Amino acid sequence: MKEPFLSALPLIHEIEAAGYEACFVGGAVRDFLLGRDIHDVDIATSATPAELKTIFSKTVDVGIEHGTIMVIQNGKSYEVTTYRSEGDYQDYRRPESVTFVRSLYEDLKRRDFTMNAIAMDKEGNFIDPFAGRLAVEKKVIVTVGSADERFQEDALRLMRAVRFVSQLGFHLEKQTEKAIKEHVDLLRHISVERITAEFEKLLDGKYKKNAFELLFHTGIYKRLPSLFNQEHVVQSVTKLEISPLKELDIWLLALYFSGEHPVTTLKKWRLPSKKIKLLSMALSYLMLRKDHFWSRDELFTAGKEIALLVETAFLTIKREDVQLAHLLDKYESLPIKSLKELTVNGNDLIRWTGKQSGPWIGKVLHEAAQAVINGEIANHKQEIRSWMENCRLI
Ligand code: ATP
Ligand code: MG
Repeated sequence: MKEPFLSALPLIHEIEAAGYEACFVGGAVRDFLLGRDIHDVDIATSATPAELKTIFSKTVDVGIEHGTIMVIQNGKSYEVTTYRSEGDYQDYRRPESVTFVRSLYEDLKRRDFTMNAIAMDKEGNFIDPFAGRLAVEKKVIVTVGSADERFQEDALRLMRAVRFVSQLGFHLEKQTEKAIKEHVDLLRHISVERITAEFEKLLDGKYKKNAFELLFHTGIYKRLPSLFNQEHVVQSVTKLEISPLKELDIWLLALYFSGEHPVTTLKKWRLPSKKIKLLSMALSYLMLRKDHFWSRDELFTAGKEIALLVETAFLTIKREDVQLAHLLDKYESLPIKSLKELTVNGNDLIRWTGKQSGPWIGKVLHEAAQAVINGEIANHKQEIRSWMENCRLI
């Protein structure tokens, strides 16, 4: 066994000493088998949350209604979840309340895919009643039990399947894929926030090209915010070399192809306003970039982050790759990279003119910055002052 399982072992020992069962489950066991980095280990146990609280002194109720509590030990936190059975699913979503059970088998049976339904005990033995290890070996995503039923119980599993394709490079087992195609419409029962969370994980996956192809072939895209009638957007993005792209690049490309107002589209996905602002701005620079290479002024106002984002998106569309270095050279050669680096500031302007503070300050500073960037004047206080006076800006 290796870290981070080793650090979590004392928890399992303590739960067992109190007379209950406990083992590692879920993504951590799967990723361990795959040799992938393991983020957080999940522990499943026959003890109820109330019983766990008598065993451990420091706990936090993170999802007690689903049977999960966080145990803090040696400065680290671990999620410990009571064995649960399927319970009753309503409205094709996860149930509000759950039934705690004492059987690990029942707990593994309610999990989504066989690769996620493998448990590992404290000695490193696997409890694998659904042949999850075989699925991992064959790199296949297959539901635990009937695919039809599992997707009808909880339609988020459709999205989870495709995002695992993107993260792990696995393929969908035949019946699982068929059931996804048949139940795409059930995604309408799932909240946009949960869909977006899975979609963003998908965009971060190494095998997102495969995932995009699946979004298209299964028809899932029709149930994603803003993409339902945008077949050409999904197809255009699928055809691009998206594998090396980051999440933001892909959002930008999708916006570029959609032709819809970016704020409208991004709001449908309920993305944070900061991201919406960044992407809308990037899109306007992408439109300029279609027309000409970056002017010094555009580079200055866009800033390095947006400029790189836009250039990557542009190069992906154009399939060229020589311009990124050119862009960075040009950016680095700017005498100033932001207004803050200008040797003149608002206080100087107020002192020199005796005028009151106001929007005029920003405008004057901006003009001076442009003159500096374009090499008309140097970034020297006196030189800028004389230039402003000559231009009757102050
Ligand atoms: P990740 O590496 O992204 O955390 P994960 O497999 O650990 O992947 P989580 O969302 O953390 O995924 O869920 C932990 C485990 O809980 C899963 O491995 C799976 O066994 C189970 N699970 C999560 N969501 C569902 C669901 N919608 N239906 C059934 N089981 C689920
Ligand atoms: Mg997890």
